[in-house]
Amino acid sequence: MRIQAEHLSYTYNAKSPFAVAALKDVSLTIEEGDFFGVIGRTGSGKSTFVQHLNGLLRLPSSLKRRYKQKVKRGQTPPPLPQLKVGEFDLADRKTNFRALRAKVGMVFQYPEYQLFAETVAGDVAFGYKNFSEKKPTDEEVQTAVRAALEVVGLNYEELKDKSPFDLSGGQKRRVAIAGVIVSRPEVLVLDEPAAGLDPAGKREIMELLHKLHEEWCKTIVVVSHDMDEIAENCNRVAVFSEGEVKYVLPPSELFEKSEELISLGLDVPLAAKLTFALRERGIEVKNDFTVEGFINSVLSYAKNEGESE
Ligand code: ADP
Ligand code: MG
Repeated sequence: MRIQAEHLSYTYNAKSPFAVAALKDVSLTIEEGDFFGVIGRTGSGKSTFVQHLNGLLRLPSSLKRRYKQKVKRGQTPPPLPQLKVGEFDLADRKTNFRALRAKVGMVFQYPEYQLFAETVAGDVAFGYKNFSEKKPTDEEVQTAVRAALEVVGLNYEELKDKSPFDLSGGQKRRVAIAGVIVSRPEVLVLDEPAAGLDPAGKREIMELLHKLHEEWCKTIVVVSHDMDEIAENCNRVAVFSEGEVKYVLPPSELFEKSEELISLGLDVPLAAKLTFALRERGIEVKNDFTVEGFINSVLSYAKNEGESE
């Protein structure tokens, strides 16, 4: 499913003195198969944007009517906001949002806080039943729950009857992710999935996302403010700043613009910092700003220097 946003805007507490314009005229496309990164400072609109993708936040239903009224009156209205996720038109009130939510899984920040059932299996089963079009049999539920727990790297037999509250932090997060992917969404959206974990936990979560991307969900959308995580894992990235999209690029092109990113208050990956420090010293290391890419380009630079001596 391709995700296409055009001229998307969103204001919290509209028409009140507390109005906050969280998204301003956002247009971007996420292709099927992308491992897509969304970056930006706190408050730049990342969460507001991704919460539109499964209809949790909606476009105003009166958009089309008001647009047509203006055209009829001979006025030139601003471009019509659109949001399409595969076949789903999210500007259309009649869209089946329940079916959409089964196709677009959403893992919120600190999803383990939303675990509530008495057992691990119960929690994941809730996600499954919630998204099923018709009532599944007990056997269907059990099969789905087992598969979801196993794909996130948890042992079903060992954990199914345990309380989620007795698990480690990393395990809880995996259970929460299992409760979303259990409906086999085509698109999986995760808001800061590695936040609050130690470096090993972060690495494991990113490895899990790659596994899910290969075996389970065609498209992954991940919100992060860890630039190394983005450089290492995503094929394309959108940069949000004050509710606007500034760039949509592959990391290898985006981090060439490190100065611009820093002026937007963003960090850049370690490999980009090192690359630019070397360039200042006249050493040209062209690379994709992953650690591996940086090392390879330094090695090939050293080899060329050695040969020319
Ligand atoms: P990010 O995820 O990039 O940190 P958000 O999308 O959460 O950004 O927030 C964008 C803007 O909208 C911020 O100014 C934030 O304070 C505001 N905002 C977010 N959620 C709400 C809400 N429920 N009510 C009012 N303002 C909100
Ligand atoms: Mg956020």
